Amino acid sequence: LQEVRELVTQAQPTQKLRPLKGSRVDVKDLSVAFGEHKVLHEVELRIESGTVTCIIGPSGSGKSTLLRAVNRLVEPQAGSIKIDGEESRSMKPEALRRRVGMVFQHFNLFPDHTALQNVSLAPVKIKGISPKEGKAIAEARLAEVGLAQKANYRPSRLSGGQQQRVAIARALAMEPEVILFDEVTSALDPELVKGVLNLMADLAKRGITMVVVTHEMGFARRVSDQVVFMDEGRIVEMGPPSKIFDNPESPRLKRFLAEVL
Ligand code: ADP
Ligand code: MG
Repeated sequence: LQEVRELVTQAQPTQKLRPLKGSRVDVKDLSVAFGEHKVLHEVELRIESGTVTCIIGPSGSGKSTLLRAVNRLVEPQAGSIKIDGEESRSMKPEALRRRVGMVFQHFNLFPDHTALQNVSLAPVKIKGISPKEGKAIAEARLAEVGLAQKANYRPSRLSGGQQQRVAIARALAMEPEVILFDEVTSALDPELVKGVLNLMADLAKRGITMVVVTHEMGFARRVSDQVVFMDEGRIVEMGPPSKIFDNPESPRLKRFLAEVL
């Protein structure tokens, strides 16, 4: 029955897409270490406003650490991250996280809250809008991810795919200019992956800047403007998807693609 529900939700026509503001992200000489262990080595990356950058690479290569550094969930040892030219280090972490949202592999929804409450919580608490406004925003964001009918459901009554869409709605409710996705489909049952990827592909058309760590090579090829291949804390190769997937240069990328494709 859950699968039937999922299919019905997916079959609903996508509504008109509300445009979203994006921002440019400039990462320069970014180094992160945990104690003695250097995890990112002088990473340089420019992400144009409104584009999709997919980050691929083996486990442990530093992909999550790079995302987390952009959101200041980890503090870099050196280097700079600029959002539309503004140095992130000089912003308050809360101010930065309003502009840069993040979605995780394990949704991290509050289990005792409804979908609607999960989405309205941060705007009300952090932006200080009224509960009534928060509810209206949450309803609108849930409708955008195809879950208007599920607003009063708790996470336990939703499929993994639906929970992840609530998590995306929650991130969007803060009106971020950049949204970071860390393996958001890795924990989903295979039949639920497509709905979430389609939602992300729709989001990509709306002008927000997206940085997506993923093992979904089909998505990376189809939706990315730029693909970044990381290994051992370094960007080994990057470029448009046609270049990365059809004409890889480095032996490490060739080996990686041979394993995953
Ligand atoms: P990926 O996301 O590509 O799998 P990560 O960024 O999670 O890689 O991890 C890169 C390296 O950093 C790994 O060796 C991992 O063990 C290490 N690492 C990540 N987070 C921490 C942490 N909080 N403390 C210590 N080491 C960490
Ligand atoms: Mg990771």
